[in-house]
Amino acid sequence: MTTLPFTPAVEKETAAIYEKLKSFVPAFEWPAVAPLIAEINRLKREKNAVILGHNYMTPDVFHGVADIVGDSLALAREAAKTDADVIVMGGVHFMAETAKLMNPSKTVLMPDMKAGCSLAESITAADIRLLRQKYPGVPVVTYVNTSAEVKAESDICCTSANAVRVVESLGVDRVICLPDEYLAQWIAKQTKVKIITWKGHCEVHERFSAADIADMRARYKGDITVIAHPECPPEVLDAADFVGSTSDMLNYARSERPARVFMVTECSMSDNIAAELGDVEFVRPCNLCPHMKRITLPKILDALQNMAPEVTVDPAVAVKARLAVQRMLDLNDQAARQKTVTKVA
Ligand code: 13P
Ligand code: SF4
Repeated sequence: MTTLPFTPAVEKETAAIYEKLKSFVPAFEWPAVAPLIAEINRLKREKNAVILGHNYMTPDVFHGVADIVGDSLALAREAAKTDADVIVMGGVHFMAETAKLMNPSKTVLMPDMKAGCSLAESITAADIRLLRQKYPGVPVVTYVNTSAEVKAESDICCTSANAVRVVESLGVDRVICLPDEYLAQWIAKQTKVKIITWKGHCEVHERFSAADIADMRARYKGDITVIAHPECPPEVLDAADFVGSTSDMLNYARSERPARVFMVTECSMSDNIAAELGDVEFVRPCNLCPHMKRITLPKILDALQNMAPEVTVDPAVAVKARLAVQRMLDLNDQAARQKTVTKVA
């Protein structure tokens, strides 16, 4: 790839972005980073493309080029709504597949096809068919962190932001929740519905322990707020002050403004919000998601220049998988409408 020049025009165009990134990108590196950001943003306009950026993207992607940022639920929702011709996924493969399911006629680009997910790899469509034989008539709620084939075998999808609502919406006393065992156990604590679990784990969140939290509380003599993602083991969630999806965690930090926070999740979350909340101290031991970290500015640029690699889903699979995602989104819209009605009344 030819090196893009750091011209005065590029410097001017990216000055506001640099303000957000200056704690993460050293000044001597900016002349190499800014032209990438400027060129990606130019190509987005030229190709009517939109970049969806998960909360785990590094700050240069999150603050530099992403048009819409959020948790898995927000990205699925936005993917269903966008009128762009091209969607570039700043996230992992299952997120790009979900975007394609919701927009079959659009081009969905995945900057690195190897950006997978240990949860998505923990279960196959054949596993679900066997579970259905074992538990006849019990509905299957599938976390969006799964392949399109797995979604196609499911009744409805969920994310960590809406899991309890999805489970309770089915009006039954027993539900299969997969593939994340810890998320399923966390749901079970909040509902009377009996939850049948699967042994999938997130390779990033399963590495946290209750001892990590105890150490942190001891180090700061209790003067620390601990917020954790529900993919963490149950003893970690029990020891946390707040548990929620990545966006729930961000919103908690935004609204509560704790003086010092330990975000028990992927490292880039703290970096991205630290750029916004100067008054909150983020302490980091955190864990990196090797899949999310495959998505870089040079790979995004390459994807837009070559319009590849493109994500495709077998149309027969897509029809069934879309239904499971759409049911989740409809439920969310319904809940949002009910909230508005309650407010007005
Ligand atoms: P969220 O839905 O909370 O963004 O989580 C997605 C994910 O991959 C967390 O590891
Ligand atoms: Fe998958 Fe965990 Fe990475 Fe999220 S953080 S993409 S669940 S491996």
